[in-house]
Amino acid sequence: MRPFAYRRAEGPDDAVRSLETGGRFIAGGTNLLDLMKLGVEHPHQLVDIARLPNDAIHETDAGGLRIGARVSNTALAADPRVRRRWPLLSSALLSGASPQLRNKATTGGNLLQRTRCEYFQDLGRPCNKRAPGSGCGALEGYNRNHAILGTSEHCIATHPSDMAVALTALDAVVETRMRDGRTRSLPIRELHCLPDPRPEVEHVLEHDELIEQVVLPAPPDGAAHIYRKARDRASYAFALVSVAVVLRTVGDEVREARVALGGVAPKPWHATRIEERLRNAPATHESFLEAARAELAPAIGRGHNDFKVPLAERLIVTTLAEAAGLAHVPHRELIR
Ligand SMILES: Cc1cc2nc3c(=O)[nH]c(=O)nc-3n(C[C@H](O)[C@H](O)[C@H](O)COP(=O)(O)OP(=O)(O)OC[C@H]3O[C@@H](n4cnc5c(N)ncnc54)[C@H](O)[C@@H]3O)c2cc1C
Ligand code: SF4
Repeated sequence: MRPFAYRRAEGPDDAVRSLETGGRFIAGGTNLLDLMKLGVEHPHQLVDIARLPNDAIHETDAGGLRIGARVSNTALAADPRVRRRWPLLSSALLSGASPQLRNKATTGGNLLQRTRCEYFQDLGRPCNKRAPGSGCGALEGYNRNHAILGTSEHCIATHPSDMAVALTALDAVVETRMRDGRTRSLPIRELHCLPDPRPEVEHVLEHDELIEQVVLPAPPDGAAHIYRKARDRASYAFALVSVAVVLRTVGDEVREARVALGGVAPKPWHATRIEERLRNAPATHESFLEAARAELAPAIGRGHNDFKVPLAERLIVTTLAEAAGLAHVPHRELIR
């Protein structure tokens, strides 16, 4: 084991001021400690933020919620306001990890958890994210879990968070604090980076920038919220493909669709092509299929993950149809 210094932060200012170059904040530790044991991460200093006071959920004047970064995944999923008005977020959280992990995992840590690419976690394999310039083992390797959208020739890893996919559909905002006292509000859709040109840069935060809160805007009135996750087993597995939908229909027409995808890209994928195509479109299986195909038109399979393209198409269509209250139609009948 490599030695490291440990400091428990006494407050947010103390946390950002005491973090040294090469150090890391640690919250629940459910991702960072695993990576340290594997030797993928080796910070010389840990600043423990698990006792900071931001562990509450408050209502905002605008009808939304302000969620402290230290709120656990369990507490957020169980909050009665979240369950009633943002059920998408609750079901995305409950689809992730296990109850024990969700008790420890925090809102801030969940957003910044790192990819589960097997090559990234194996020091014996090349990985441009872990060791820039060393190559990408997954491109020509076993890439079943890897991305089909937003990839580069240098990295095809996926972002693993379910919660971040729901927050992307819900258009959440991340509030941060920096060492010099500055704070900023950042749309979650701008938090994570694509791997081109630098796979090792995963988000736009500065090294010592602390996530303090996540703000949820009020959800659209009367919208259906659905999170669907396809995975290899019914629990305790990351998404092969996931779809987060907030859909408001009036009569047979879509008025507003907010859609994000997980398991398919290096960041929670904001499905802008679907949203644009569905604005004021008929709420039918045919429009949903056309929108899904537009979103997936740039998708690139790398062999083992080719199946994700038709899987994503099916999951998008069935999730939108369920949100619109349509009767189930087998996909094979739609694509005849
Ligand atoms: C076996 C297993 C299965 C899992 N399955 C799923 C799954 O299906 N879906 C899913 O979404 N997740 C899954 N997870 C991931 C789990 O949700 C994350 O590990 C957890 O959310 C990370 O939160 P944490 O507080 O423990 O983060 P930590 O491990 O403490 O930190 C993670 C990273 O975030 C940084 N960080 C933490 N808090 C802050 C902050 N406030 N400001 C700035 N930086 C911060 C840390 O420096 C570190 O780099 C799984 C994990 C395991 C171990
Ligand atoms: S996909 Fe990305 S994380 Fe995985 S081996 Fe390639 S460069 Fe590394």
